[in-house]
Amino acid sequence: MQTPSTNEAATTLSTVLDTATQRLAEVGVDNPRFDAELLLAESCSLDRSAMHVRLTSPITPADHRRFEALLEKRAQGVPLQYLRGHQEFWSLDFEITPDVLIPRPETELLIEQALELGGIESLCDIGTGSGCIAITLADALPGVAVTASDISPAAVAVARRNAERVSVSDRIRFACGNLFDEVVGQRFTLIASNPPYVESTAIDGGQRELSYEPRLALDGGADGLDVIRRLVAATPSYLVAGGWLLMEIGCDQEPAVLALAHDAGCRDATVVKDYAGLPRLLRARW
Ligand code: GLN
Repeated sequence: MQTPSTNEAATTLSTVLDTATQRLAEVGVDNPRFDAELLLAESCSLDRSAMHVRLTSPITPADHRRFEALLEKRAQGVPLQYLRGHQEFWSLDFEITPDVLIPRPETELLIEQALELGGIESLCDIGTGSGCIAITLADALPGVAVTASDISPAAVAVARRNAERVSVSDRIRFACGNLFDEVVGQRFTLIASNPPYVESTAIDGGQRELSYEPRLALDGGADGLDVIRRLVAATPSYLVAGGWLLMEIGCDQEPAVLALAHDAGCRDATVVKDYAGLPRLLRARW
């Protein structure tokens, strides 16, 4: 074992953390201390509370190197979730790679609403991404037959791994295809979706920090409604009578989306507000 030289104090987790927090703050990261703590915990293979009780311990050179590499990427703007490789959603832990959208807290509203509906026998998640919607609902609703589809093979691979991780892989059928292409002829009691709904110009113009996430999962075309338009129009063909569509939308899309539901023959559609008070979820019954 190496003996630390007497005139040089060993670098502790605490000092590493302080320097890192300062570095992230300097480049304008929103929660520099929080991000630094999570990356350090990840680098040392500890959870955050275990790391806290070891703050005065020295960091090993290998852990330090791992941490510096992650910190540098975070300082360059890579989202924390891609660096950690996982993210909590509805109290479950999901593997997250740059092939999938990072699950967001507002999408938990969809889960909450789905669980309130009752009477769900089958559901189909369109554009499943990491699988967070389909997998969370499969876990919460053991008797329900779940199908999850995504146009991206890489996303489907991540979703499959997440289903294994949460131990629901035997209860979900995964498919790779555009919208309903892989479920033609089937009808569900619930169709759930968080489709791409951001306007192309908002992505290109850099109004939002979305450049690390898959464009396929975000880009809804000129008015953000390209995919939503097709999805809502097709939905009645894939629902049983009295079946529901729960679909996340952009907070400025309420009137347009209600009109699309109406055009598709729906006479029972509302938009539910998220926890920030923004219109966020179409809740429609055919
Ligand atoms: N909620 C995401 C955002 O606004 C967009 C997700 C999506 O397009 N489905 O950052």
